[in-house]
Amino acid sequence: MVNVEELGWDVRTVGELDHMILKAPHVKLRSAMEGRNGDVVYSIDLRLTLPNREYLPITLLHSFEHFLLAGFRKYMPENFVCVAPMGCQTGLYLVLLNEGSADAICGVYENILNDILSATEVPYTHASECGHFENHSLDQAKDLARRLLDSKSVWQQVV
Ligand SMILES: [Zn+2]
Repeated sequence: MVNVEELGWDVRTVGELDHMILKAPHVKLRSAMEGRNGDVVYSIDLRLTLPNREYLPITLLHSFEHFLLAGFRKYMPENFVCVAPMGCQTGLYLVLLNEGSADAICGVYENILNDILSATEVPYTHASECGHFENHSLDQAKDLARRLLDSKSVWQQVV
């Protein structure tokens, strides 16, 4: 059994929650799924804006997806499985293998956001690497990264 409290998560906020009581931005463990051989798949919500209140433009969400993809590949190559935008446009889903530490995940997230601030281009924006390569905004990504870094102290206050 995975001990989520030992990994630094508030056990009351793991799983599905009423979206009306969520705070944002936040980093939240959605689930820890243990396989037959002891490997664990962690699903994490990177919530960027308040549900039912503020929606991110698709262009921004798309660029953020690319930055997080490049960043988690760089900082957690052994653990990173995937990152994908939420259809409601308020955040992204992150999936990791055998890394569920809240501190480790928030630390890498912070590194990636800082990397965005100093980036000169959005990664993987050649037509051979992306399904809508013209749909990106470095400036919007920087504004959002700054906003998220400013509220780092509340990332783990989910409700
Ligand atoms: Zn793309």
